[in-house]
Amino acid sequence: MKSEILIHPEELTEKQIDRMASRGVNVLGLHPVGGDSAVDSLNRLLAQIEQPSFRILLDYAAECGLEIEYEMHAASYLLPRELFETHPEYFRMNEDGERVADYNFCVSNSEGLEIVAARAAELAHRLYRSRPAYYFWMDDIREKPCHCPACRKLSVAEQQLTALNRMIREIRKTIPNAKMAHIAYLDCIDVPHAVKPEEGIFLEFAPIEKYKDRPDRTREEEERRMMPLLLDYFGKEDAKVLEYWLDNSLFSHWKKPPKPFSADPEKVKAEVLDYADAGFSLIATFGCYLGEDYEALYGEPNITPFTDAFL
Ligand SMILES: [Zn+2]
Repeated sequence: MKSEILIHPEELTEKQIDRMASRGVNVLGLHPVGGDSAVDSLNRLLAQIEQPSFRILLDYAAECGLEIEYEMHAASYLLPRELFETHPEYFRMNEDGERVADYNFCVSNSEGLEIVAARAAELAHRLYRSRPAYYFWMDDIREKPCHCPACRKLSVAEQQLTALNRMIREIRKTIPNAKMAHIAYLDCIDVPHAVKPEEGIFLEFAPIEKYKDRPDRTREEEERRMMPLLLDYFGKEDAKVLEYWLDNSLFSHWKKPPKPFSADPEKVKAEVLDYADAGFSLIATFGCYLGEDYEALYGEPNITPFTDAFL
């Protein structure tokens, strides 16, 4: 069982790397900020990757024994919104039957999907020192799938998996051992029965509902209920869970300055063991908003509630 902490690329410092490496973390995940401006933060990351100073940091992380990977909401990057003017048919149809370039895209238009796949393959090659596991998530939003006559027959999760299947086929032409995450998150939490995962697709289970402060716990219960079903459908090999135990960006409501942070070691340990028992092989948590600005305000952040759970 491996452990991973995901941080924002701009929060990466030698200190962060030392902290993770000395505590036995296996994988360093880099996650450009999501939300409506995900395409801008992904473009910023790609520019950052070209800078020698950033590459030196990533080289250092690798020397310290950390594997590196990148996880991002990529739909708006993979199908550039500028194409809407000439090719509205590549984009999703909303519930009123109009093509719109707001979120995601149509997964039944083969020409559009070809562009998505080609850009995914190119993106995979740009991710400096990435292990061959790719996380090109759809947009960070609920209830914005394509409603065209062909896509309408598919659930949101099935639409996502259709796009991923096309992408992994393309990526594997040049990176034969590439793998790609199907993220079970928000309205992609159910099993995509109508679409079979292609070779190389693995499950990434990201239960966020339990962190939402609302009296109705139906969605949280649904996540719990889906977990074993998803593991059965995608298989346990390479199955990954993405948690929020150290996610100070969530606890700071994604607004800087970061709030003071602490996690409950007992609770985290119990949940880590639960996931290990269920069969997950990589257990990850976001650990954003614990960078230099955090340290300047509150001192060294404590990541041991997570890392000690693996001892
Ligand atoms: Zn469609």
